[in-house]
Amino acid sequence: MKTAQFKRIVWFRNDLRIYDNPALFRAAEDQEGVLAVYIICHEMLKNHVVAPARVDFIRRHLLILNQDLAELNISFEIITVNKMSQIKTELQHLIKTHGVEELFFNAEYPLDEFNRDKQVSEVLREDGALVKRFHDRVIIPPGMIRNGKGEPYKVFTAFKNNWMQQARSLPLQVLKKPRVQNEHHHPALTDNKLNAFFENITQRDLSKLWPAGEKEASKRLKKFTKNSIDDYQTARDFPQVEGTSQLSPYLAVGSISPKQCLVAALQESKGDWDSGSAGVKTWIGELVWRDFYQHVVVDFSDVCKFKAMQKHTEAFPWRYDEKSFKAWCDGETGIPLVDAAMLQLKATGWMHNRLRMVVAMFLTKNLQIDWRRGEHYFMTQLIDGDFAANNGGWQWSASTGTDAAPYFRIFNPVSQSQRFDAEGTFIRQYLPALAKLPAKVIHNPPPTPGYPLPIVDLSLSRKETIALFGALKS
Ligand SMILES: Cc1cc2nc3c(=O)[nH]c(=O)nc-3n(C[C@H](O)[C@H](O)[C@H](O)COP(=O)(O)OP(=O)(O)OC[C@H]3O[C@@H](n4cnc5c(N)ncnc54)[C@H](O)[C@@H]3O)c2cc1C
Repeated sequence: MKTAQFKRIVWFRNDLRIYDNPALFRAAEDQEGVLAVYIICHEMLKNHVVAPARVDFIRRHLLILNQDLAELNISFEIITVNKMSQIKTELQHLIKTHGVEELFFNAEYPLDEFNRDKQVSEVLREDGALVKRFHDRVIIPPGMIRNGKGEPYKVFTAFKNNWMQQARSLPLQVLKKPRVQNEHHHPALTDNKLNAFFENITQRDLSKLWPAGEKEASKRLKKFTKNSIDDYQTARDFPQVEGTSQLSPYLAVGSISPKQCLVAALQESKGDWDSGSAGVKTWIGELVWRDFYQHVVVDFSDVCKFKAMQKHTEAFPWRYDEKSFKAWCDGETGIPLVDAAMLQLKATGWMHNRLRMVVAMFLTKNLQIDWRRGEHYFMTQLIDGDFAANNGGWQWSASTGTDAAPYFRIFNPVSQSQRFDAEGTFIRQYLPALAKLPAKVIHNPPPTPGYPLPIVDLSLSRKETIALFGALKS
């Protein structure tokens, strides 16, 4: 006879937090026993090119979650599988062993994750278990924002208007820490045991820059909303200034929820959507961008299959030039802002949003290199790597995506540099060879020892790209 030690399982994924976690909260409403599970899938880590910095960030979050769950009397198990197809079998096994009746999880939207969850749900339902799926990764779940014809939006502004209307009537309460009285809970895993699950996975320690955990995420959110959000609209474009929240790594692993971010922002404007500062409104707009791209991967799931959102752009004759691609990755293109940004990515696992757009446009519009290569490289480096936001950002920059930048509007990285890093402070931080150059010339330097000459003619390549895109249109 099986022992019904745990009636419910809560399956943690990119939602590594205790507060405002709907799957955990609902699972914990049962006092008879909740088991928390995290699954490491080697195939997924490899196929989704999860950056070593992000793997380490997840590991550090799990160490904290492990302790937090123990305080709540919730047992925690980590399971490792090689193949995605093994996940359902492992969960099936766990459910049978413990006599579990219900599985709870928060939805993930990219196609692989969606299919994984569908398979798991089907198999477990056949076995008689209930599967309950919640939405925590977005503020408004996919499928809810539709135009008059019931279709998904392909452009951001229309999506945002509809989102704003609906969000105003949402109950924006943040879920509390759950309470559980599991009598049979296991003690927390030891740190050594937990770390051992990650032994064969490449990790990169960026803990000084990015301390892990829900408390750290909340501290950052509080600091940002108290000190910086009001200036966000003006400060957010300057990479040398800490004008943005730097919460993306925490949102990506889910140690903070987008709803917690929205609520904190609205508190700054006393809950009023309209009378808040321009900074508050602009920052909420970024949270809407985040939701938008999560909706896109559900509504236009071809983007999860390496496809361009705008089909006709598949015919663009992308160049496969290894030398230029390597120079871009290594920050050796001879265009200072691009190089400093790429070195920021290498050094910190993160890049400022304006610079992400600048380097993505440079790769796709000046070097004419396939956006998919840039998208892939970003994922190998980013501590905040998130398929939906990354794919959306790349396709926007390459003019192949939803709401894409019109193909003829191409950022000039030198004028972007003059405008947003006028004194060259950011460039100097990452390119010591240029440190002594005056601000006037640093953006487009004369031949300088230790710094490469530009690998491409910006004006010529721009004209070529516009002509090539124009030909596609016609
Ligand atoms: C080519 C490219 C690739 C990108 N790849 C990623 C990625 O892998 N992961 C990721 O989280 N963001 C990505 N972004 C979006 C954006 O650059 C980052 O979210 C932002 O720089 C994170 O810094 P922050 O937390 O200080 O943002 P803030 O300015 O403080 O914004 C708050 C939050 O809003 C969300 N957000 C802000 N801008 C965007 C946006 N344009 N699209 C979607 N969400 C947004 C993020 O979750 C961010 O943390 C990408 C953008 C581009 C152009």
